[in-house]
Amino acid sequence: MSIELTQDHVFQTYSRQGRPFVKGRGTKLYDDQGNEYTDFLAGIAVCSMGHCHPDITAAICAQAATLVHVSNLFYTRPQAELAKVLTEKSFADRVFFANSGAEANEAAIKLARRFFQAKGETDRFKIVTMQQSFHGRTMATLSATGQDKIKKGFYPLLDGFIHVPFNDIEALKAVLDDTVCAVMMEPVQGEGGVIPADPEYIKAVRQLCTDTGTLLVFDEIQTGMGRCGTLFAHESYDVTPDIMTLAKALANGVPIGAMLATETAAQGFDIGSHATTFGGTPIATAAGLEMIRLICQEGLLASVREKSAYFLEQLNVLKEKHQKVVDVRGRGLLLGMELDISKGKTATEYVSECFKKGFIINAIQDKILRFAPPLIIGTAEINQLVAVLDSLFAGEDH
Ligand SMILES: *Cc1c(COP(=O)(O)O)cnc(C)c1O
Repeated sequence: MSIELTQDHVFQTYSRQGRPFVKGRGTKLYDDQGNEYTDFLAGIAVCSMGHCHPDITAAICAQAATLVHVSNLFYTRPQAELAKVLTEKSFADRVFFANSGAEANEAAIKLARRFFQAKGETDRFKIVTMQQSFHGRTMATLSATGQDKIKKGFYPLLDGFIHVPFNDIEALKAVLDDTVCAVMMEPVQGEGGVIPADPEYIKAVRQLCTDTGTLLVFDEIQTGMGRCGTLFAHESYDVTPDIMTLAKALANGVPIGAMLATETAAQGFDIGSHATTFGGTPIATAAGLEMIRLICQEGLLASVREKSAYFLEQLNVLKEKHQKVVDVRGRGLLLGMELDISKGKTATEYVSECFKKGFIINAIQDKILRFAPPLIIGTAEINQLVAVLDSLFAGEDH
């Protein structure tokens, strides 16, 4: 029923898999025929505390019964408190709430431009981003994105974006001049293939930006909220940006986005410069507050780092064992496995095979398997997935 209705009435912009899901609990999802799946994707790095975490469900329900929406013409407690916690736990002093990742990045792009234009530096509007980056699907954020396939058919794009190769400091140096207002990058490229920034590179980027007065924007939409083993991925690199964007896991599945900035960078916006009707609604921010409390519980982030090390070790065993596996990489519980698809099955085909065996994983560019399980995934579940992959790869050994 849901499948036919979707195919008949929803834009056909997604290729969907399997039977409709009807229920989620922790690391498990259930389809309408009662089949159970172990989720190593978490709704694309979103449901980090697992599906329907009871404390988050309780926070959503309590808020839904109290106050749902008043707009940003008024004050609300959950939004104020979430902003307080986010600024206490990060480099940032101020938060602008949005409804999605693309919108958070849109706000960052606008802030970076207006920061200089408000000072009369009207020629300083260019933004440097990385090749293979992903920043969203709105016109500004797809213009920022460093992947042609995302832009195809949407020309002309927004003016003023320069893409440079990732992890190449000389390439960045070559384009940084007084027409550039910001450098925007992901600490670990997610959609680009699970590619972490080199520690020396990201430090050098920070230094270059400081030296040239350029704003540094970290897109932590996928890497933030504990995904990479620290609350924000940049903490493990020991660098801080001027602006950071969050979304995906921020409210464990309730739509939300946030753009955080230092007090200095935040001066680019004043009353009336940017706005959204829904941004930071009481339900989304109440869920976000509970989410942060859970992620910052004693031991949670340490357990992410431990499970990451274990998972990586197991994936590396598969790499040693099977020619099919060319590379294993990532940070925290955002891991990628690159496959040799010159012969045999593609990553997408492996995703289907895993799905048939009750495991949800994801493929990028048809050759990289991405694993982004809920942060509460168990070691036993990691072992089960690794065993499934092992048996599937064995079919291609010779
Ligand atoms: C998912 C993602 C976005 C876009 O977020 P949406 O909520 O889909 O608009 C932007 N940047 C990164 C790094 C992402 O992973």
